[in-house]
Amino acid sequence: MTAPFSAFLDEAAALLGPRGLTRDADLLAPWLTDWRGRFTGAALALASPASTAEVAALVRLCRAHGVGIVPQGGNSGMSGGATPDGSGTAILLSLRRMNAIRAIDPAARQATCEAGVVLQVLHEAAEAQGLRFPLTLGGKGSATVGGLVSTNAGGTQVLRHGSMRALVMGLEAVLPDGTVYSALTPLKKDNRGFDLKQLFIGSEGTLGIVTAATLRLVPQVAERVVIWAGVPSITAARALLLHCEAAAGDALEGFEVLPQSCLEAVLGHVPTARAPLADPHAWHALIEVVADAVGAASLRERAEAMIAAAFEAGLVADATLAASEAQAEAMWLIRESVAPAERAKGPAMQHDISVPVERMPAFLDMAVPTIEAEFPGTHAVGFGHLGDGNIHFHVIAPPGAVRAEWEAREGKAISRRVHDLVSEWHGSISAEHGIGQLKRDELERLGDPAALALMRAVKAALDPGELLNPGKLVALAPSPAKP
Ligand SMILES: Cc1cc2nc3c(=O)[nH]c(=O)nc-3n(C[C@H](O)[C@H](O)[C@H](O)COP(=O)(O)OP(=O)(O)OC[C@H]3O[C@@H](n4cnc5c(N)ncnc54)[C@H](O)[C@@H]3O)c2cc1C
Repeated sequence: MTAPFSAFLDEAAALLGPRGLTRDADLLAPWLTDWRGRFTGAALALASPASTAEVAALVRLCRAHGVGIVPQGGNSGMSGGATPDGSGTAILLSLRRMNAIRAIDPAARQATCEAGVVLQVLHEAAEAQGLRFPLTLGGKGSATVGGLVSTNAGGTQVLRHGSMRALVMGLEAVLPDGTVYSALTPLKKDNRGFDLKQLFIGSEGTLGIVTAATLRLVPQVAERVVIWAGVPSITAARALLLHCEAAAGDALEGFEVLPQSCLEAVLGHVPTARAPLADPHAWHALIEVVADAVGAASLRERAEAMIAAAFEAGLVADATLAASEAQAEAMWLIRESVAPAERAKGPAMQHDISVPVERMPAFLDMAVPTIEAEFPGTHAVGFGHLGDGNIHFHVIAPPGAVRAEWEAREGKAISRRVHDLVSEWHGSISAEHGIGQLKRDELERLGDPAALALMRAVKAALDPGELLNPGKLVALAPSPAKP
């Protein structure tokens, strides 16, 4: 340990106390590898401040000693954004101890939460007030408010409610110089210049440390109907989506798609899973319609009429409405099991991509055969949030491939090709999982130079010493071009 670090650690220990700072390797270890197991780093210590004031004081201390800070919530992120590099010269700043729901205001339909509040806890707290927080995702038992804000997380309800950006009404963050930016009280109208909270939403801890947020709540769902439909093509799935949007309007809460091969992967992977329809179909759509209040014409009747009209228009080959909550849950379980089921099939390169919503069917019809032809033996599948123009595009290795070897030999080239195709179609190489360290080089390679320069200018203005989340998202100096 060099002298500057030991002085820093002494001061940090005095500031945070024994509960707030540890260097115990066993306590640190689980937080030094990302959820997907792709990245493992090292850290000087794990800091767990208990208040915004402690975060601010710690940031000032880090700045004085030139120590980097890697903010971390539930460590469920998909891009290695919360994993430090291997140098061991940064601290891991966990917000998990700051887990108070400061207030829920049912009249204003708002919850003010500290950064470490876990999404599932927020769901339960809102429900206890007859409300709900309308964002959910598979990692809800771990993901925290701070992480959700910092990655601008999405999930399966974006179609109706938007991603995190649409749900953050107010924010509190500690800036890289230790200043506390506090804008927790939402105003419906406020035109006093820049909307500064947006700087921290989706910036992956590179511009500030989110310590609290005021979030939008909506009325609890009074009734829901979940539908499983089989369609002959992804273009037909898109036509069905347009039909449902027109028929259900604001009641359409979710519209997810998966090809037959993904359904079969789930059926082989989850012992309790059953195919919702008797026959195979090229594509399947999982549709959810909800009512915030029980109306005169029941939601179920409206959903039945919607699907009957889809049959008449030739938009679906077959469909079934869940007859019970248990059946509805079973249908959603299939969707949520696609990623682990695909992973169990063997090595795969996973891409979280978006193109303009209306172009996704044409993109998939082009990208799947292109990739499979250029990388013989691979199998490409796209599944997910068709209504958001966001598909998880997995390219599965040829049978028998050895993960590390295949990823090094072919995987990187596949990802570059997928990202090239996405860019040619004016899409995004990260629709909802962020850039982190996973896609930083690809952002550098493919990002709009003007946008990258603007991001660097913002980073330079707020964090000229690059102490906040070093090596993630964007660096002040562009990295040299890689072959
Ligand atoms: C099974 C599963 C399913 C998932 N499904 C989805 C999905 O459908 N949609 C989706 O968008 N994501 C999904 N995710 C990814 C993940 O849950 C989200 O990215 C989530 O927002 C991460 O929250 P976290 O608290 O775990 O953040 P972490 O993983 O700890 O951190 C993520 C990033 O945010 C930064 N950060 C964390 N907290 C703060 C803070 N307080 N201040 C500043 N920066 C901070 C970190 O430095 C890092 O860059 C899924 C994850 C899992 C495990």
